[in-house]
Amino acid sequence: MSDKETMLVQKISDGTVIDHVSAGKSLSVLRLLSNPQNRGVTVALVMNVGSSKMGRKDIVKMEGVELTDEQVQKLALIAPLATVVTIRSFRVTQKKNAVPPKVVTGILNCTSTTCISVKEKESVQSIFSLAGSSPLSYKCKFCGRILSEQEISAQLG
Ligand SMILES: [Zn+2]
Repeated sequence: MSDKETMLVQKISDGTVIDHVSAGKSLSVLRLLSNPQNRGVTVALVMNVGSSKMGRKDIVKMEGVELTDEQVQKLALIAPLATVVTIRSFRVTQKKNAVPPKVVTGILNCTSTTCISVKEKESVQSIFSLAGSSPLSYKCKFCGRILSEQEISAQLG
């Protein structure tokens, strides 16, 4: 992060900074993480700041929280360019890029009304496999329907 960005995101002693979130997606990121702010976690959002890498971006900062690998994978579904920075005692101890999972089970919904995962929703869990990374797309295992990055964001946000 540049000095200007560091000023926007006040330093935290322990916690997680999620950088390079697509502009406008920070609230979706919090929802995906089951709204830690509702469980007593201090959360700071920086929205729509300039980024040399992506034009405009959001930054999410959470105190005293570290993400699991599973959470980082889910995060990649709505913020495929995100960088997850873990901070302990004011030091960056880990920097991870969000990597979209190869297979996503039970999180996304197929958009084909004739798909078995839609018709038999109660008994058949949706399964999608990664079809493209930039832009992100996933393919339904049952009917082959492709979900675009926008559709995925809309479903999760
Ligand atoms: Zn389908």
